Amino acid sequence: MSNREAEGGGATRRVDPDAFRKSVSMFATGIVVLTCEDDDGKVHGMTVNSFTSVSLDPPTVLVSLKPGKAHRLISRNGRYGACILNEGQQSFSAHFSGRPQEALRPDFVVREQLPTLSNCLAWFECETVEKVQIHDHTLFVAQVTACGSEGGAPLMFYGSRYHRAAIAA
Ligand SMILES: Cc1cc2nc3c(=O)[nH]c(=O)nc-3n(C[C@H](O)[C@H](O)[C@H](O)COP(=O)(O)OP(=O)(O)OC[C@H]3O[C@@H](n4cnc5c(N)ncnc54)[C@H](O)[C@@H]3O)c2cc1C
Repeated sequence: MSNREAEGGGATRRVDPDAFRKSVSMFATGIVVLTCEDDDGKVHGMTVNSFTSVSLDPPTVLVSLKPGKAHRLISRNGRYGACILNEGQQSFSAHFSGRPQEALRPDFVVREQLPTLSNCLAWFECETVEKVQIHDHTLFVAQVTACGSEGGAPLMFYGSRYHRAAIAA
């Protein structure tokens, strides 16, 4: 191993950060609001697009979180809700990423054991089974203990902007 690699550099040092950001933004995703309970039992929400399905059996997902309030609460509680937003919920994405929308009144409901948004494309209740630290983010790998879906079209994120899905024929 070279000194550069031993210092944690290696291949990543050769990639221009702007080029990486732009290239990875070409991967279209949906938007998820994670839900967790704070110290007073109040629901806290956080917008992510790193939500990924890992395996079907057992049903397993992951999210990649940087340090912050949701990270702290999920680390402590060991569980989280995940709510896939529909195309009419762009304001939810902004709100739960730290840009408060004054008129927004998010409504949460406990379907099985954890609070999730009452209106969304699909919801998941998740129990963390493994935490993996990768640089400044933590992967929260979780088993899905309950889930359900409702009709509608997704809110999409692509090229650092929101989009509505065009369904291919
Ligand atoms: C499209 C997109 C994708 C993103 N993906 C990721 C990702 O994959 N990983 C990652 O680490 N970061 C991601 N972020 C950034 C992340 O959403 C923000 O950094 C977020 O603010 C971090 O939340 P927090 O829990 O640390 O704390 P905060 O920023 O304190 O909380 C989030 C915001 O939600 C509000 N809020 C929370 N609960 C409620 C409630 N019950 N009622 C009313 N308001 C409430 C808070 O007031 C605050 O404004 C993404 C952002 C966007 C826009």
